[in-house]
Amino acid sequence: MAIADTTSSPPGDDHIKFHIYGMTCTGCASRAEKALRAVDGVSDASIQLASEGADVTLSQTIDTTLLDAALVKAGFETDLGADQDETPAEHEATLSARETRHLLISAFLTVPLLAPMLSGGQIHLAPAIQFAITVPILFWLGLRFFAGAYNSLRMKTSNMDVLIAMGTSAAFAYSCFSWLGSNAANPPLYFETVAVIITLVLFGKWLERRAKAGTTKSLTALTALRPDIAHLMAGGQVQDIEAARIAPGNRLLILPGERIPVDGTILSGQTEIDNAHLTGESLPVSCGVGDKVFGGALNGAGAVEIEATTNAASSLLSKIIDLVESVQSEKAPIQHLVDRISAIFVPLIIAIAVVTTSAWLIQGASVEHAILTGIAVLVIACPCALGLATPTALVAGLGAAARHGIIVRGTRPMEMALHIDTIAFDKTGTLTQGQPELVSIETHGTRAELLRLTASLQQKSEHLFAKALVEAAVAENISLSMPQNIDVHLGEGISGDVDGHRLIVGRKELLERLKVSDLPSDDEHFDPGTSPVFASRDGTYLGTLVFADAARATSKEAITKLTRRGIKTAMLTGDRAEAAQKIGEELGLKEIHSNLSPAQKVSFIQSRSGEDHRIAMVGDGINDAPALAAADLSIAMGSGTDAAIETAQISLMRSDPRLILDAIDICRATHAKIRQNLVWAFGYNTIAVPLAALGYLSPMIAAGTMAMSSICVVTNSLLLSRWKAKTGAHS
Ligand code: ADP
Ligand code: MG
Repeated sequence: MAIADTTSSPPGDDHIKFHIYGMTCTGCASRAEKALRAVDGVSDASIQLASEGADVTLSQTIDTTLLDAALVKAGFETDLGADQDETPAEHEATLSARETRHLLISAFLTVPLLAPMLSGGQIHLAPAIQFAITVPILFWLGLRFFAGAYNSLRMKTSNMDVLIAMGTSAAFAYSCFSWLGSNAANPPLYFETVAVIITLVLFGKWLERRAKAGTTKSLTALTALRPDIAHLMAGGQVQDIEAARIAPGNRLLILPGERIPVDGTILSGQTEIDNAHLTGESLPVSCGVGDKVFGGALNGAGAVEIEATTNAASSLLSKIIDLVESVQSEKAPIQHLVDRISAIFVPLIIAIAVVTTSAWLIQGASVEHAILTGIAVLVIACPCALGLATPTALVAGLGAAARHGIIVRGTRPMEMALHIDTIAFDKTGTLTQGQPELVSIETHGTRAELLRLTASLQQKSEHLFAKALVEAAVAENISLSMPQNIDVHLGEGISGDVDGHRLIVGRKELLERLKVSDLPSDDEHFDPGTSPVFASRDGTYLGTLVFADAARATSKEAITKLTRRGIKTAMLTGDRAEAAQKIGEELGLKEIHSNLSPAQKVSFIQSRSGEDHRIAMVGDGINDAPALAAADLSIAMGSGTDAAIETAQISLMRSDPRLILDAIDICRATHAKIRQNLVWAFGYNTIAVPLAALGYLSPMIAAGTMAMSSICVVTNSLLLSRWKAKTGAHS
C-alpha cells in the first residue's frame, strides 16, 4: 500500500510520510508516536494504525535515518531506510512474504510435536527432541513477541506481546523443569503448547495483515489514481518528470487515455474527461479550453495541454486521500474509553492470571493445572481486537464513501449524521439545477443596453444569476466593460460603477432600501416559477431580468425518501415567495421559507437546533457559508471545489441530492460496524477470560480463540468496503 512515494522530504515541505511495520494495537501506535516526537526537529507525529502510516511534521530539515533509528529502537520497522528501488508496495510484499514463510516453518515444526496427541498416545517423542524442536519456534519465530514485550516494557507500557511472551515462556520453563527435574518415564511436558500458541498467533497475524490490506483497499484504489509521471512542456519541448515535482504554473501535456496528475485548467485542446474517481459516476464530460480538470481524472480520446494549478500533494484528490487517511487516527468519542481500558488491560490480565494460578494452588489443584490455567488466561486476552475495532471500520467505511463521491470529514460528522432530524436545503443550485436561464427582460430602454450594463457589473459576482447574465450577453455579442467600486450584498445583489454610472442589480428589497425610484409595483404578472431581478441606473429603475432554474431531476426522489425516513425537510431561499412555493410544492417540501437574507437563514438554523434536535444544512457555495457553519451538520453539494471540501463536514462531489441519503447510510453503516466490533471485542474478553480462569480452556484453544477474535473484527470491517449505495445515484 502506498501512502506517499517519498522517503525524504522534498525541499520546502515540512511533512514526511512513511510506513511503520510491527504495530499491533493502539498501544503500539502511541509508543511509535512518542518515539518520533522525541527526535530533535520533529514537532508533531501522527500514526495511522490501520494503514500503518506515519505523518511527521518537522520544524527543521533532518536526516530521515534518525526517524528510522528511533523507531527501530522502539521495536518497529519502517520503509524509510528501505532500498530506494523498492516501492512501499514491494516492501510490503517482502514483509508479508517473510510472514508467510515464518508461519509455514512454525506450522511445519509444530506438527511432529502434536504427533503423540494425534496418534492417541501411540507415538512418543523423546523429551530432548521435543525440546530441540521447540527452541527455534519460541526463540527464532517467536522472537518478535519477546522483542515487542521488551520494547513495550522499556517504554513503561504493556501490550499483547507481553502476554504472549509470558504465557509461552511459562509453559516452556515449566516443561523444562519437569523434564530435567523428574525421573518419571513420561513427565508432563507442554512443549507442544508453546509451539501451538506461537503458530496460532502467527497465523492470526498473517490473516490480520491480509484483512487489513483489504480495509485500506478503497484508499489504495484512490491512491493508485495518481500517475507517477507527467509530461512537462517547457521551452517548446516535452520532458517526462516525476509527478511529485510538478509546480503550480507548469504546462503539462495530457495524452489520450492518461490520468491527469494534478488539478489544472485546459490551455488548448478538446477532450472528454471521466471524473468517476471524484464523483462516483462514470459519465465522461466534454472539456475544452478554460475548463478546470482534476488530478486523477481519466482523459478520453483527445490530447490536451493544461496549466497546473496545484502540485501533486495539494490536488483535490490528494486532499481527499489525506482526509480519509487522517480519519483513522482521529479519536471517535467512544475510542477514548477504549484507550483508557487498553492502558490498564494488560496489567489487569497479568493480575488475573496470577490470582487464577494461586487460587487453583490453594484449592489443592496440581501445580501443572494451576500453571496451565494461568497461561490460558494470559494467552486468550489479547487486546488487539479492541485496538483494531475503530480504525479499520473508519477506513473501510469512509474510504468506500469517498469512492462514491461522498467525502466525510472525520468521526464527528459521521456521528452527527445519525442524529439529524431536519435537513434545510438552499434552493438555487442545490434543489434546482443551478443553471438559471435568462427567460425574459422588461425595460424602458433597449434590451442591449440593459444587458450590457448589468452583465458588465455581474462579471464581478459569483452568483449563478450573474453567470447566466454574462453568458447571455456574450451570446448576443455584446461587449462588456470593467465595473468599478463593487459592493456585493450577499444574498441580495450587487452594486458598482459601469461607464461612470452607478448600477444596482438584485432583489427588489435591495433596490428599495437603496432608495431607487420608479420601481414597478406589479410583481404578479411574472410566471410563478421565475425569479425577477431588478436593475437601476443612478438611482432610477432601469429594467427587470427574469431568470428560471428548473428543479433537479433527482430532488423530488431525495425529498420523498428523506420524508419517508422521518426526516423533516425545509427550503431556505433568498428568492421570492412565488418561485420558492412553486418549486417547493413540486418537490414535496413541507416547509418553505423565502425572502431570507443570509442572516435570516442562520437564525432559522439556530431556532431548529436545540436540546434534542439536530439540523443539517445543504448548500452549494459561498453565499450559504454562514448557514452551513451554523448547522449541526453541513453538507456541500456538487461543487467539487477545494473550498467545499475544506469547510463542509460532508461534501458531495456530485450534484445529486440523493447522495445525502447515501451519505447518511454509509455513516450509519460505519458507526454500526464500530459498535459491533467493540461489543465483540469487549464481549469476547468478558466471556473468554473467566472461562479460561475457571480452567475450561486449554492454552492451545485460548490461542486459537484469541487469533479468531481479531480476525473477526477486521473481517467485519472489511465488509464495509463492499458497501454499495442504495439510491440510484450511482448507476
Ligand atoms: P438562494 O438562497 O436561493 O441560493 P441567494 O441567497 O443566493 O439565493 O440570493 C437571493 C436572491 O438575491 C436571489 O434570488 C436574487 O434575487 C438576489 N441576488 C443575489 N445576488 C445576486 C446577483 N449577483 N445578481 C442578481 N441578483 C442577486
Ligand atoms: Mg444558493
